[in-house]
Amino acid sequence: MLDLSIILPFHNEADGVRHLFHRLYPVLHSLDVTYEIICIDDGSSDATFTALQYEREKDQRLKIVRMARNFGKEAALTCGLHLAQGRAAITMDSDLQHPPEVIPDLIKEWRKGGEMIFAIRNNRNTDGQLRRLLSRAFYAIFRTIADIKMPEGAGDFCLLDRKVIDAVNTLQERNRFMKGLVSWVGFRRGVVPFDVEPRLGGRSSWNFFRLVRFAFDGLAGFSTLPLRIWTWSGAIVSLMAIGYGIYLIIDTLVSGVDVPGYASMMVGILLLGGLQLLSLGMIGEYLARVFTEVKARPIYFIADRIGFTE
Ligand code: UDP
Ligand code: MG
Repeated sequence: MLDLSIILPFHNEADGVRHLFHRLYPVLHSLDVTYEIICIDDGSSDATFTALQYEREKDQRLKIVRMARNFGKEAALTCGLHLAQGRAAITMDSDLQHPPEVIPDLIKEWRKGGEMIFAIRNNRNTDGQLRRLLSRAFYAIFRTIADIKMPEGAGDFCLLDRKVIDAVNTLQERNRFMKGLVSWVGFRRGVVPFDVEPRLGGRSSWNFFRLVRFAFDGLAGFSTLPLRIWTWSGAIVSLMAIGYGIYLIIDTLVSGVDVPGYASMMVGILLLGGLQLLSLGMIGEYLARVFTEVKARPIYFIADRIGFTE
C-alpha cells in the first residue's frame, strides 16, 4: 500500500501546473515515502489537461482524472478521496496558495498519531477586505449554530488518515461541504500553522455569489437552527400581538373608539410580511437542498482517467 496520496483539484490552472510540480517534487523526494499524485481536472476550459498529461510523462506516479464538466472543488475533492489508495491523503489547492513545504509538518503530526491534520492559515492577507470580513462572520455564525466544531482558519489543506478517508467516503450526501464533512466524522485531530501565499497566476474561481451559496451550503448542511428559529420568533411575535390585542380591546371599552392608528398598523403589517417572506425563503433554501439530495444524482462524472489500474 502506498503511503501518501496527494489530491489536487485543478480548475483553469494551466499556467501554474509547471510551477506547482517544480515545488512539490523536491518536498516529496525529501520525504521517505511512497506516493501517488491524483490530479483532478475539474472541467477546465484552458490547457490544464494537456499540461497535466505532459507532467505525467515525467513521473508515472502522477495520475489524472478529467471531470465531464465543472462540478466544483468539493466534488473534485470527493472524487480524489474515492480514488486515493494511500495510507493517508493530503488535499491541497493547486494554485500554490497552500505551500507544499508544509507537507513534512503534516506528516510529522500524522506519525505522532493524529488522524486528521488541518493546516491552519496564520493570516488572510491574500484575501480582499470584504472577503475577510465575510469569512470571519461566516465562521462566527458557524461556530455558534452548527452542530460540529471546525478549527478556526482551517481550509481544504489537510492530511487525512485512511480511517478518515474511508469514513468520509461512506457519506452519501450531495451537498459536499468538505471541511464540515471531515470535521463531522470525528477522529483524533492535529493542527499545523502555515502562511497562505498569494495566488500564483490565473484568477480565483469564486465570486461573491458563489461564496455566499457555498457558505449557506455549509450552514444548512450542519445546522437546522435557521429553520427552527422561526418557531420561536413566530411564538414571540404572536404573544406580543395577543397582548397588544387585549390592550386595544380594553382601551376601546374604556375610552371609546379611537380612529387613528395608521402608523402602528403599517409597521405591524410590513414587519410581519417581511418576517414571513424571510422564513419562507429559509424553508425554501432547505427544501431546495432536500430536493437535490432526494434526486440522488451522482456527485460527479469522470470523462477520462489516466494511470489508475482497473
Ligand atoms: N477549483 C476546482 N473547481 C472549481 C473551483 C476551484 O477544482 O470549480 C480548484 C482550483 O483550481 C484551486 C482550488 O480549487 O486549486 C481553490 O480555488 P481558488 O484558488 O479559485 O479558490 P480560493 O483560493 O480563492 O479560495
Ligand atoms: Mg486559491
